Amino acid sequence: GEALAEATGDPAARIEALRREIEHNSYLYYAKDAPAISDAAFDSLMHELRALEAAHPELIDPSSPTQRVGGYVGEQFAPIQHERRMYSLDDAMGAEELDEWLARVKEFFGTIPELVCELKIDGSSVAFTYEGGRLIRAATRGDGTTGEDITVNVRTVKDVPLRLRDGALSGIRDADASIELRGECYMPKTSFEALNAAAEANGKQPFANPRNAAAGSLRQKDPQITAHRDLSTFVYAVGDERKLMAETQWDLLKWLGEAGFHVNPDIALVTSAEEVHEFCRKSLERRDALPYDIDGVVVKVNSFAQQEAMGYTARAPRWAIAFKFPPEEKTTLLRDITVQV
Ligand code: NAD
Repeated sequence: GEALAEATGDPAARIEALRREIEHNSYLYYAKDAPAISDAAFDSLMHELRALEAAHPELIDPSSPTQRVGGYVGEQFAPIQHERRMYSLDDAMGAEELDEWLARVKEFFGTIPELVCELKIDGSSVAFTYEGGRLIRAATRGDGTTGEDITVNVRTVKDVPLRLRDGALSGIRDADASIELRGECYMPKTSFEALNAAAEANGKQPFANPRNAAAGSLRQKDPQITAHRDLSTFVYAVGDERKLMAETQWDLLKWLGEAGFHVNPDIALVTSAEEVHEFCRKSLERRDALPYDIDGVVVKVNSFAQQEAMGYTARAPRWAIAFKFPPEEKTTLLRDITVQV
């Protein structure tokens, strides 16, 4: 990787090679649900590209993979416009990068504001639209602006409420208007293993990991296939928070639970860097014991008003960070790669 770039000394050529390799692998990952390289290998390509672009700002291009939300809108699904854009998350690889983000937040507000720590569920992003309390649409993240209509498939996911609980409607400012709620659809580890065992027994291609299995199951032409896959959800976000009475991420999570969604119970409301680190440490320790995959911790500024004040980059909110865990052994089964320039 990096050594090769140094050796050739042509940053423009290296950047172009990285962009091509990243685009190709994103296509296999998002469009085909069949990655050819490990996430760790992919992340190191992105990391190197970001570092090179930072060192050579004149080479930044709006069509670079660093400037967009990774995703794909397939032609076999109708396009759905998201209520507001769906973003990706910036990564902190290790404690030092987490501290850099905490320092930026502290500098912005003068003090560390209330922060919410959540597990980073390694599934597939889904946006659920309710109108008058009833589920009317569901979409993938897609390119962030436009997602794929997977409503019929999502209707088969048993823990997605088809109707919000009555008591929760008072938490929506205009209960008759539509509202987009967002979360992660995932396949539990044991179900993933059973699915792959069955695929192999039938001579079919297995999925690379539970995340790709969840994404692939949601993007089926035939909802009967989705219905036979064991999928669950954790919901944690709203498209347009102005539509809710809740004014913080913490109150949003509470409301989502009351509305009938599955909300992940491992959450913490904290006010110091130490507590954030502690939450990350504990979550990493518990990772293997959880029945579903997590690939890190997401830390979010709690107040919606404070979130808006910090704003967004082209691809991610400034008010949140994904603290990434080191890759798990099993994902390194996929080939590791070096990009040629
Ligand atoms: P990401 O998955 O790392 O982070 C953003 C996503 O986290 C959000 O869209 C959301 O769906 C999810 N999330 C889970 N729990 C959350 C929570 N509690 N709060 C908020 N969001 C939460 O970023 P990405 O842009 O979706 O994808 C990048 C990932 O895909 C990387 O891990 C990368 O390695 C992998 N990837 C791999 C390949 C490959 O070839 N192996 C190719 C492309 C992407």
